[in-house]
Amino acid sequence: MSIERVAVIGLDCAEPSLVFDQWAELLPNLTALRKRGAFGNLTSCMPPITVPAWSCMAASKDPGTLGIYGFRNRRDHSYDGLSIAMSMQVKEPRIWDLLTAAGEPSIIVGVPGTFPILKPIQGQMVTCFLTPNPADALGSEDPIKQYTHPPALKHTIKDLVGEYIVDVKGFRTDDKPWLLEQIYQMTDRRFKVVQHLATTQPWKLLWMVEMGTDRIHHGFWQYLDKKHHRYEPGNPMENAIRDYYIHLDRLIGDLIAACDPARTAFLVVSDHGAKRMDGGICFNDWLIREGYMALKQPPTGPSKFDIKNVDWSRTRAWGEGGYYGRCFLNIRGREPQGIVPPEQAEALADELIQKLEALPDHEGRMIGTKVYKPADIYRKVNGVAPDLIVIFGDLHWRSVGTVGNESIYTFSNDTGPDDANHAQEGMYILATPQGGPAVAPGRKDGPTLYDIAPTILKMLNRPIPGDMIGRPLV
Ligand SMILES: [Zn+2]
Repeated sequence: MSIERVAVIGLDCAEPSLVFDQWAELLPNLTALRKRGAFGNLTSCMPPITVPAWSCMAASKDPGTLGIYGFRNRRDHSYDGLSIAMSMQVKEPRIWDLLTAAGEPSIIVGVPGTFPILKPIQGQMVTCFLTPNPADALGSEDPIKQYTHPPALKHTIKDLVGEYIVDVKGFRTDDKPWLLEQIYQMTDRRFKVVQHLATTQPWKLLWMVEMGTDRIHHGFWQYLDKKHHRYEPGNPMENAIRDYYIHLDRLIGDLIAACDPARTAFLVVSDHGAKRMDGGICFNDWLIREGYMALKQPPTGPSKFDIKNVDWSRTRAWGEGGYYGRCFLNIRGREPQGIVPPEQAEALADELIQKLEALPDHEGRMIGTKVYKPADIYRKVNGVAPDLIVIFGDLHWRSVGTVGNESIYTFSNDTGPDDANHAQEGMYILATPQGGPAVAPGRKDGPTLYDIAPTILKMLNRPIPGDMIGRPLV
């Protein structure tokens, strides 16, 4: 038997160990939902990065098939650097596209990879944290600037909450009281909009994503995690993340109650988890030190990586910073001034993998770095993939792009204060109403984010396309 509708409450970066273990008793709504359903770790995609993870979840396709390997991607093999992946880069249908084709309405709020709105869906949409400025849409009819579908929804939102906040701009800041206030404001306004839409519009699928969980982890993890190198016992911000989760639990409880739980299935999911960041590895400085890369002008101190300063005649590989590392090879006939003969590219990649995986931390300890070749982990490799995907130190270390650092190890972040990295395991809770499709109750780790879209389709009694990677959890 099918159920009438599915509500997906996405919490970007929500960490399973906090929700299921550490704070279970403080989160009555999430815990109650968990006790009447299934829950566990939800394995993210590789790399476990917001863009592409939510699109992978909603399309049940891997980053290689989507051709999106992170926030920023190469558009071609030129040396133009990376550009941010927006909705036009997502060519595969996501679940709301499938429902639209079937004439079924959805409410989609804040799901990364939805700005700009190119193909209006059946139902309502509010775009994601990559929306440049929602206020731009207010005085404009230009379709490319709209952050809502239908466009008139922006006026309803303004009347409802005033300024709608897609993301905390400049969340990597030392002004923690300001950051905290911004996160609460953003979250409260988003839930108010979702609650309004959920109770006034028809829908089969409601899918919202809250970014506050991600922002609060990156901004406040050092105050919470006793193993973090900057943790101070008894610090005044010790409970900042905990209190936010408690607040979020209340908002989720209100939303569940408003969604007619007797005929709605609920999924609470995160795109990846969170863990402490121990430090950064200056990827390009390492490549320079090891003789893989050369710059025209040697840096006089730590400075931003400028791809125009690379001496391509002496560079075989270069890297990019981020929560994970990307390595590109300078291949003859592929890159404009490539010097690596194509027949040697594989051997060079293998040599780099061996050295990177053997790279210890600043105290000589092995950190378990893993390096992947896209062709080995994806069903297809579309677009321009990095030649190597580098997960430094089981994600306790990040990749730093800057050059000219004193050491290849750094403990401050080149893009601003940031305490946390992403963890490979996110979370899920799935609860169906009485008489709905059966789900084996209790904890079950092992599902992946690719299983979410097939699960929703099955619950809505819709066919599951054969090229979806995941399998239904019901
Ligand atoms: Zn995320």
